Amino acid sequence: MSLMVAPDNTPVWVNENRCKACDICVSVCPAGVLAMRPEAKSTLGAMIEIVALEDCIGCMECELTCPDFAIYVADKKEFKFAKLTDQAKARAKAIADNKYRVLGA
Ligand code: SF4
Ligand code: SF4
Repeated sequence: MSLMVAPDNTPVWVNENRCKACDICVSVCPAGVLAMRPEAKSTLGAMIEIVALEDCIGCMECELTCPDFAIYVADKKEFKFAKLTDQAKARAKAIADNKYRVLGA
């Protein structure tokens, strides 16, 4: 059960107070929507960042695998998600190759 109210017209959102910067959601996202940004104040020096909101395909992998219930995906009945594109897949690979960190950071 989500402890956050779903924001309007948003495919995926996070509760940064819960995120432990474990990288798991980033590693399972097939569309390169997520990456870790440097964050000095947080655990492990990083924080989850949504970097390509418009490419979220609503697969739920992030929400289902997050051990801390820190990331949430909109209901398919309430949001029209993107289709998986080659460009999004390429970004996911680039982020993985960058140790799950935000590209260019
Ligand atoms: S729902 Fe799927 S595509 Fe969207 S952010 Fe989560 S893992 Fe990535
Ligand atoms: S899986 Fe959860 S705790 Fe881990 S980085 Fe993603 S949002 Fe944060």
